[in-house]
Formats: sequence, C-alpha cells, structure tokens
Amino acid sequence: MAVAAGSVVLALISYLELVKAKRILKDVSRAIAGKDVPIIKVLDVLKDMKRDLEGKYEEAIHSRENMRIILQNISDGIIILDRSGRILMDNSAARELFGIKEEKSDGKKLVELVDNYELLSFADKNLKSFKSDSTEISIIYPKKRFVKCDAIPVILSKKEEVLIILIKDITKERELDSARREFISNVSHELKTPLTSIHGYAETLLDDDFSDLETAKHFLNIIEAESARMGRLINDLLDLQKIEEGKAVFNFEEVEIDEVIKYVSRIVKPMAESLGVDVKISCDSGVVVNGDFDRLVQAILNLTDNAIKYTSQKEKGEKHVELLCDVSEKECTLSIKDTGPGIPANSIPRLFDRFYRVDKARSRKVGGTGLGLSIVRMIIEKHKGRIEVSSEEGVGSEFKIFLPILTKG
Ligand code: ADP
Repeated sequence: MAVAAGSVVLALISYLELVKAKRILKDVSRAIAGKDVPIIKVLDVLKDMKRDLEGKYEEAIHSRENMRIILQNISDGIIILDRSGRILMDNSAARELFGIKEEKSDGKKLVELVDNYELLSFADKNLKSFKSDSTEISIIYPKKRFVKCDAIPVILSKKEEVLIILIKDITKERELDSARREFISNVSHELKTPLTSIHGYAETLLDDDFSDLETAKHFLNIIEAESARMGRLINDLLDLQKIEEGKAVFNFEEVEIDEVIKYVSRIVKPMAESLGVDVKISCDSGVVVNGDFDRLVQAILNLTDNAIKYTSQKEKGEKHVELLCDVSEKECTLSIKDTGPGIPANSIPRLFDRFYRVDKARSRKVGGTGLGLSIVRMIIEKHKGRIEVSSEEGVGSEFKIFLPILTKG
C-alpha cells in the first residue's frame, strides 16, 4: 500500500514533466500558427500553465514527503529497491538495524551502504529471481540482533518493478526460545540426577540378599532422600510457573511482620539446633505490611533455611544466623545474616537465576533445588518490594528484603 503510493508519486512527477513539455509545445505552436492570437495571450497561457504545473509539482512533493513520514514511523524496517539494487526508499528502523549512517540513501546501491553479507545476498538473490522469499538474518553491527526478512516483488502501474524488503526484529523471540531450551535442558538434567540415583540403588537392592541390613537401610535412606528432592523440585517448578503466569493466588491483607517472623522462628529453631547453628531472631511488633501471610512466610523461611543449612556446612568457625527487622518511614527491612561460607562476588549477579548454584555439591548435600531464590524474588516483587544480597567469602552472607509498610507501630 505504502509502496504503491510512493511510486504513484514518482510516476506522477515524470508524467507531469512530460505533459508540461507537450502542452507547452502544442499551445505555443498553435498560438504562433494562428496569427490572430496576440503574443500577450501566449504569455498568459504560459504563465497559467507554469502556475498549474508548479501547484501539481508541489502537491507531488508533499505526497512524497507524507509517504516518507509514514515510512519513518513504521516500527519494522523497510527497504525498497529497484531491479538494479538501488534504494528507492528506506525507513529509520531499517537504517538503525543495519547501521546505515548516510543521510541520503535514495538512489544509492544497497551494497554501498550495508555490509551485512546475509542481507546483500538475500536482496541479490531475490532481485534476480523476483519471487517472494523470506529468511532470518543475524546482525552483529551496530547491535547484536536477529531479524526476519521478507522479500516482496511488486510490479507498479507503469510496469516499474520494485523489491520490498520487510525487516522484523525477532531478537526477543529468539532469546525467549533459547531461555526455554535452556530451561528444559536444566529441568531434564535436574530430574535425571535423582532418578539415576534412585534407579541405581533400587537395582542394587533388588540384587541383594539383604544379608547386610545396615547397608540396605542406607540405600533405602538415599532412595527416600532423592525422591523427596525430586518431589520438592517438581513442587518448586510448579510454584514458580504459577507465580510467573500470574495464576498463583496472593491473598493480600494487613500482615504484622513480627507474626511472620514468629512463625518462621518456630519452624527453624529445632532444625538449627540439630545442625549446631545458633539462631537469633528479633522483630518489633506493630509493623504492618500489605501482604500474603503464607507467601511471606515462604520467602523468609526459604532465606533463613538457606542461611542455617549453608552455615551448618562450614567446617570451622562460629555458626550464627540472625533474623532481624528494621523499620524506616516508608519501608521495613528484613535482614537474614549468617556466618556461613559466603558467596563469591562473581556469582552474585546470577544468584536469583533458576537452577543457579554456587556449589552444586553443597546444594545437593543440603537437599537444594536451585529454585528457592528465584521463588523468593518473585514473591517479594509481588509485594512491591525488593531483595538485595551482600556477601564475603569465608565470612558470611546477608540477604535483605525491603517491603513497603502500612503502619510502623
Ligand atoms: P538451593 O536450593 O540450591 O539452595 P537457592 O535458589 O535457594 O537454591 O540458592 C541458590 C544458590 O545460592 C545455592 O545453591 C547456594 O549456592 C547459594 N546460597 C544461597 N543462600 C546462601 C547462603 N546463605 N550462604 C551461602 N550460599 C548461599
């Protein structure tokens, strides 16, 4: 549609030039042949013609300019080529994608302005075949991008042949695809590991004559632990998916933060004791947030559970975990601080990614799924809060949750 309008304008301009010349010749020769026409009349005719032509010419320029503005505002890239590969028109989206810097591209050959080999050979091939075609192209310069190109051959009203190349940026779709692939491969791997172990121990037990009951019990314990881990993994995955898709129901109400902390404390204290980790918990009463009680418990429990379990893995040194609450004008800060093994600085940016673990063996030992922190972050974001982490290897870690408050007590 846009191209047709552009070419009509181009055709109109040349047509007007032709009409202009023909009419001038005709009228002037008629005026001179019929001596009865005074020269002043001839001049008047010429003046009128000039004015008329100028008006039409202006109109044509105006329409062409409008065409240009419309093209520039289309978010997909568009390049229109004549059969010799010269650019008739292009828009800013196409120029940006392929890094075309020159102000005036009209009339230049595509090869003079673009150095993307894939685009050039796609254009070349389709200028020769003059058939519809499509391809995906990767762009390195000026930015790494993936685009889908469609070649559309068009024959205009005056038999003028042009090739339109439509360019759609599909970088996001590609990235999502690769994230999905990575996710599936991670899930398969995560499930395969416990399954292999369950299968192996079950097979050994089946071949066993149960003469050594202690060993048999040990194998059964492993089978139980691994299947429990698989169950946790599946639950975490389902939970993550539900929150991500907005299907998880969050019952927002006024929640007293110290009630959440007390609840978490009741769960973690016996576990910490059995793992030899000293836990200190304190929180002023009266701090109220707009939240989902169970989800807040889940998030804080997850962080405290991590702190206790990873600290318990430390070979020497003090084993402390602190769960504290601080409040300012607009928000409360929940801090979960430990004297555990700490997290290397280069791992911190990836810590909340699904399945990311600093130390796979250590995470396995504590029964981790690698999904806990991703879930925590999502829960906190649902509460319009944020989470931060600071850590020093060999010294300990501190996770801080910031939540907007309704009342500060
Ligand atoms: P996991 O189920 O493996 O614990 P998480 O998502 O909860 O998964 O945590 C991701 C990784 O972050 C863990 O595998 C661990 O390496 C690291 N991590 C989390 N919390 C702590 C902590 N308090 N101290 C040291 N490392 C931690």
